Amino acid sequence: MSESKQAPQNPAIEFPERGEPALTPKQRMAIPRQPMPEQPAEVRSRNFLEVNQGLSAEAARMEALRCIQCKDPKCRQGCPVGINIPAFVKKVAEGDFAEGVRILKRDNALPAVCGRVCPQEGQCEKVCTLGKKGEPVAIGRIERFLADWEREHDREPIVAGPATGKKVAIVGAGPAGLTAAADLVRLGHEVHLFEALHRAGGVLVYGIPEFRLPKRIVHDEVRQLETAGVRLHTSVVVGQTVTMDELHERFDAIFVATGAGLPNFMDLPGENLNGVYSANEYLTRVNLMRAYDFPHADTPVARSRSVAVVGGGNVAMDAARTAKRLGAEHVYLVYRRTRAEMPARLEEVHHAEEEGIEFLFLHNPVRYEGDAQGRVNKAVLQKMALGEPDASGRRRPVATDETVELEVDTAVVAIGNGPNPLVPRTTPGLRTKRWGNILAEKGSGRTSLKAVWAGGDIVLGAATVILAMGAGRAAARSIDEYLRTGEWPEVTLEE
Ligand SMILES: Cc1cc2nc3c(=O)[nH]c(=O)nc-3n(C[C@H](O)[C@H](O)[C@H](O)COP(=O)(O)OP(=O)(O)OC[C@H]3O[C@@H](n4cnc5c(N)ncnc54)[C@H](O)[C@@H]3O)c2cc1C
Ligand code: SF4
Repeated sequence: MSESKQAPQNPAIEFPERGEPALTPKQRMAIPRQPMPEQPAEVRSRNFLEVNQGLSAEAARMEALRCIQCKDPKCRQGCPVGINIPAFVKKVAEGDFAEGVRILKRDNALPAVCGRVCPQEGQCEKVCTLGKKGEPVAIGRIERFLADWEREHDREPIVAGPATGKKVAIVGAGPAGLTAAADLVRLGHEVHLFEALHRAGGVLVYGIPEFRLPKRIVHDEVRQLETAGVRLHTSVVVGQTVTMDELHERFDAIFVATGAGLPNFMDLPGENLNGVYSANEYLTRVNLMRAYDFPHADTPVARSRSVAVVGGGNVAMDAARTAKRLGAEHVYLVYRRTRAEMPARLEEVHHAEEEGIEFLFLHNPVRYEGDAQGRVNKAVLQKMALGEPDASGRRRPVATDETVELEVDTAVVAIGNGPNPLVPRTTPGLRTKRWGNILAEKGSGRTSLKAVWAGGDIVLGAATVILAMGAGRAAARSIDEYLRTGEWPEVTLEE
């Protein structure tokens, strides 16, 4: 969705006071969708500051006034965790931001994150009634506004419930683990969060770049948890530093939320050359280890002139835009299908184009070549055509006989991630699916092992923040029930 960067001509509307007659649907529909203020492309492509600047209070209220408060709100059905969207939007329209936040946070523990990174255009906004004839309500922008408003005004702290004497171990501090931790500490359980990396946040800190999700937002969420009493143990690799058996001895329940952080490669000749990275390594160096600030930070990353990023999802888009910000003259996005099949968020694709990323659709690498020092200097790409739709419904890419050569000094492979294998591999009796994802019961997250739950990407495969958060919340409910009743009914696990 490409939108005008000009501020829209809003109709002369006095914001109605509470109790005053509401606007008519016609008046509401005359209000244009409020655009997201953003850094100009030529400026932002040289810095790591956030691209989107957030709606002002006035623009957020104006946007919220567009909502016609449907009797059967499709937006809510489109949200993977069923957030009461019309209710919080209504409060924003009324200017009652504090109540809007309260409603939003009933179903969403991380609204400042979701407001920034959720693919709303494929979820709530896709089915918004207004979208049938015009542009849908900008639900994500309103959500982000509320979350930011709360952080800057009267943030409600997470308050630990009366102590139950029960102890829960959470393995992995990404959105699934953080959400479960917040809910469980509120319910009075003693929560210990074990994280392999030196910082909590999962993909939110090591994957998604600063220019899309400032890290201070995630650190703030983690600080809130710690203030509420959650004990964070970083640099602890469960399955190595401590085993699941040892956790079983010390805790009444365990929630495994270890994510899908194992990069896939294509097994191509030359993938081992210096300068060929997995997107995970590339993004972790830059985001978590702050390589963009080298030599002030300790971790270097190659300063590249010409970069090929392989893939068409959010991860590829993040890697390409990161390479551009690190100063590369050419960043090629190599994708084997066309723009129409790209799984990345529309906004990210649009931003990448504006920032000068060069898209090579219907191309796929077949090998990399290097110089005498073993550094990559060429990517050989096969031209592709589109065939019949495959199981995903997208048209299958078919190789042609034609190849092209691309001079590159860096290649970043962003073709997806598999489940982190350590916990499943080192935990006898924990059943997994074919590709190593943990099998967990729908709705509760219970696994084949008593008192062990799993959720987020380790169960779903690489999915989304909101789904991981929803899984954390569902597991917390189920864990609480088990801790209160001691009951572990037979588990239903579907492959
Ligand atoms: C670059 C990138 C961009 C993305 N962009 C978007 C986006 O725009 N919108 C969106 O909705 N989703 C996006 N996603 C997907 C989203 O981030 C994930 O679906 C989500 O983070 C999954 O949450 P999780 O808690 O299950 O796992 P993770 O966020 O992966 O967290 C798992 C945590 O477990 C830790 N861990 C792993 N193994 C162990 C162990 N043995 N012991 C202790 N700790 C362990 C890991 O270090 C990690 O911190 C993106 C993903 C990537 C990689
Ligand atoms: S579907 Fe759109 S217009 Fe209807 S309640 Fe939801 S946000 Fe408002």
